[in-house]
Amino acid sequence: MLVYKFGGASVKDADAVRNVGNIVSKVKDKPVFVVISAMGKMTNAFEKLIHAFYEGDIQAQESSLKFIKDYHKNIIDDLLKNSSSHAFDDIDNLFLELECMLETETEKPGNFDYIYDQIVGFGELISTRIVSAFLNENGISNRWMDCRNFVSTDNNYRDAKVDWKATEEIIYKKLLPIAKKQIIITQGFIGRASDLSTTTLGRDGSDYSAAIFAYCLKADSVTIWKDVPGVMNGDPKKIEDAVLFNQLSYNETIELAYYGANVIHPKTIQPLRNREIPLYVKSFYEDELPGTVIHHAETTNDIPVYIYKENQAMISVSTKDFSFIVENHISHIFELLSKHHVKVNLMQNSAINFKLCVDDNASKNNALIESLSDIFETEISHELQLVSIRNPKDNDFEKYAGKEIKMEQRNQKMIQILI
Ligand code: ASP
Ligand code: MG
Repeated sequence: MLVYKFGGASVKDADAVRNVGNIVSKVKDKPVFVVISAMGKMTNAFEKLIHAFYEGDIQAQESSLKFIKDYHKNIIDDLLKNSSSHAFDDIDNLFLELECMLETETEKPGNFDYIYDQIVGFGELISTRIVSAFLNENGISNRWMDCRNFVSTDNNYRDAKVDWKATEEIIYKKLLPIAKKQIIITQGFIGRASDLSTTTLGRDGSDYSAAIFAYCLKADSVTIWKDVPGVMNGDPKKIEDAVLFNQLSYNETIELAYYGANVIHPKTIQPLRNREIPLYVKSFYEDELPGTVIHHAETTNDIPVYIYKENQAMISVSTKDFSFIVENHISHIFELLSKHHVKVNLMQNSAINFKLCVDDNASKNNALIESLSDIFETEISHELQLVSIRNPKDNDFEKYAGKEIKMEQRNQKMIQILI
C-alpha cells in the first residue's frame, strides 16, 4: 500500500486537482491511500472566520464565509462538469452544516480551542469531497472516508494526542480491507475525541496524519507531494546555491524539523521510523524526479543546513533579589513553560539570569510571564530571528559579526544565533 499526501498547495486550484488525478492514476501495481489538506490557504481563511465568530463580529464573519464559499465554488465550477447530484449535495451539505454551526453555537462554551477545532476541519472535509468527486467523474474510482472515524485522539484541542491503540486497531481491522480494494480519499489534520467532538493535530498536521495511516496500514511508503523538488538544505529564496538532499536519515530529519526547518511536520517521522517506512518528498509538478527519500540510513550528510526562524521573542528571567539562578528556579521555570505550552527554541543561563528564545506568540507568552512574575523579574524582546546552521562552514559565523547577537550557542556540528 502506498500513502500519498497532498498539501494545500497541491490542491490550491482546479489545475492542481487535475494534477492530483494525474499522479494518482499512474499508480498501477499497488493500492493507494490518499490524504489531503484544505485547499490553498483555506485553513488561514477558516482561522479568520473562527476569530470573527468567536468575537461576535458578524460582518467579518459573513465576509470570511463568503470568501471561503466563493473560493471553493470557483474550483467546483471548473472541475465538476457532470457529477452525479450526490457529489454536489455532499458539498452543499457540508456548507450547510458549517452555517448551522455558526448560527446555533450562539452560546459559546468559552473555550476558543474547542470552537476552533469544530470549525477549521471543514477545510479538509470540503477539499476531500471535491477531489473525490472529480476523480470519480474522471474514471479514477475512489471512496471518500471521514478520517475522524479512524483517528482517535484525546481532547487537547488544537494539539490533540493520538490514541494509538484504538486508532491502529480500527484502521487495521476495518479500513485496511477496504483500502486494499479501492482508492481511499481522506482528510489530514483532523481526528475525533471520545466525546465525538472534532480535534486537530496542530497546524500543518496533515503530514502527521499520513504517517499515522501509513503506520496503522503497515504501508510500503509515504509520499508527500510538495511545490518544491524535495528537502533542500535551506530556503532557495534565502540562500544561494540551495541543494537538494537525495536522502536523509530519520534522525537527521527529526533534528532538522526540531530546529524549525519547514520541511515536514515534526511528529511525522516517529511512527514511520518505528516501522521503517520510507518517506518520499517529491515535486508535485515534476513527479518523475526522484526527490528526497527519508529512511533508515547509517550515513549522515555533512552538507551545511541553514534554518531561519522568524518571529522570535527572548524572555529574560532573573531573581527579584539578584540571587543566583539555581536548580529549583530552573525546575520551576520549566514547570511553567510546560503549563503554558511554550516551547523553548534556545536557552542560556548565567549566574543571575536565564534566557529563553521562544516563538513570539503573544497570548501564550503573556500568560507565562504573568506566572513567572510571582517570583522573578522578567523582560521580553520581540522581532528576533533565530538562525540555526547545522554542519556550519568556517566562515558562517563571521557573517554575523556586525550584528547584535542576543544569544548564541556553538559547537562543531551546530551554530545557533539569536539576532
Ligand atoms: N490544513 C492544515 C493547515 O494548513 C493542515 C495541513 O495543511 O497540514 O495547517
Ligand atoms: Mg494546509
